Amino acid sequence: MHAKGAGAYGTFTVTGDISKYTRTQLFSKVGNSCEMFARFSTVAGEMGSADTARDPRGFALKFYTDEGNWDMVGNNTPVFFVRDPLKFSDFIHSQKRDPATGLRDNTMQWDFWSLSPESLHQVTTLFSDRGIPASYRHMNGYSSHTYSLWNNEGERYWIKWHIKTLQGIQTLTNGEAADIAGGDLDYHRRDLHTAIELGEFPRWQVQIQIMPEHEAESYHIHPFDLTKVWPHDDYPPIEVGIIELNRNPKNYFAEVEQAAFEPGNMPPGMSASPDKMLQARLLSYPDAHRYRIGINYAALDVNKPRCPVNTSHRDGQTRFDGNADGAVNYEPNSFGGPEESPGVKEPPLKISGDADRYSHRDGNEDYSQAGALYRLMNDDQKAQLIGNLVGALQEVPHVIQVRQTRYFYQADPAYGEGVAEGLGLKLDDIRQSGD
Ligand code: NDP
Repeated sequence: MHAKGAGAYGTFTVTGDISKYTRTQLFSKVGNSCEMFARFSTVAGEMGSADTARDPRGFALKFYTDEGNWDMVGNNTPVFFVRDPLKFSDFIHSQKRDPATGLRDNTMQWDFWSLSPESLHQVTTLFSDRGIPASYRHMNGYSSHTYSLWNNEGERYWIKWHIKTLQGIQTLTNGEAADIAGGDLDYHRRDLHTAIELGEFPRWQVQIQIMPEHEAESYHIHPFDLTKVWPHDDYPPIEVGIIELNRNPKNYFAEVEQAAFEPGNMPPGMSASPDKMLQARLLSYPDAHRYRIGINYAALDVNKPRCPVNTSHRDGQTRFDGNADGAVNYEPNSFGGPEESPGVKEPPLKISGDADRYSHRDGNEDYSQAGALYRLMNDDQKAQLIGNLVGALQEVPHVIQVRQTRYFYQADPAYGEGVAEGLGLKLDDIRQSGD
């Protein structure tokens, strides 16, 4: 996944005071800054695939803070297709190549989606105008997952991160994207590199939505469900900082290909949440890096923190640095080696099992936020969405078309009727329940 990408270095500068929510030094005062690295990518295509494919975009950020690296593995969409990590690989298989033919296959994709109502919100995003960004500079990033911040008083806050492009959202139609792909498969990689070479440094404003810990128990939306957003009216985003990308890598393989992001990299004052998809990614990302790059991937220049590193990890293949010389690598010890740091102990979770409870299908409502997204589109965006869906669903078996269009109808009748009309489906068929 995320095989084709582009990356650049930059700076993150704190512009909004969130020090009461977190003890992370980076956020201790407005004006603090750190070096960072960003990698953007398509998801499903291979290394040589077209940049302008309709696909979510990876939006991975590495902040080299004075307390160690903070990595965020976001996307350009605020939600995802599944909420159960067990379904992650099923979903990916449905989007990758058919094992029999070696071809990408619309029937596989829609078969899975039309049997997975929780994917509707993200499907609506993917087939909207924002499904093909004009460039990596012209798209937003989202943590998608709920993370947390905690302060010196032991208070925890649930956090959604938003990274809003200051270049403005710009998108490509299917036709524009196909024309570009015909002439330049590397259009987005080239755009990012060229803009930085020309001194046109792309910038994003970082914002957060903040939910006090106890509100997770009573909020009407499951706060750890990756298929849902927190409406802005409930938790208004506040400004935190500015990202500026201003330096191209000198060597693509060393710095972009070997960049390794892992959501478990967080300095004190930040933490994860009970979001089960995030819990799975905490394990799977470093696992992928060990396989893809090698056991010592974290010591490579692009991945290495800019502050001193005190790790007890030693040896392994391609141990290319000094292997920590003779430093003691166990605790407790009698030789001035590592000691526990109780001062950076994360507060215990105060929420009950109720907020943690996760039912993959039962009791979930999968339609209203997809409907809200449809209704905030203007007429042109609605027409693009419906046209894109009709194009992609055209050749799939009738039974799958009907099953999927019922979901669109449940999100909003006009949405479902528009797709049904485009596909020539009977309205009576799609007005039945999609469940
Ligand atoms: P709001 O009216 O407050 O809109 C929230 C966001 O919707 C804005 O950040 C805006 O991003 C984004 N948006 C606007 N037009 C589009 C579009 N055509 N396609 C995709 N995103 C768009 O509403 P709510 O917070 O109540 O959310 C309503 C729906 O908006 C949600 O169901 C979700 O699908 C979508 N959304 C919500 C987000 C959230 O965090 N609440 C984030 C992104 C999307 P921008 O300022 O860049 O235009």
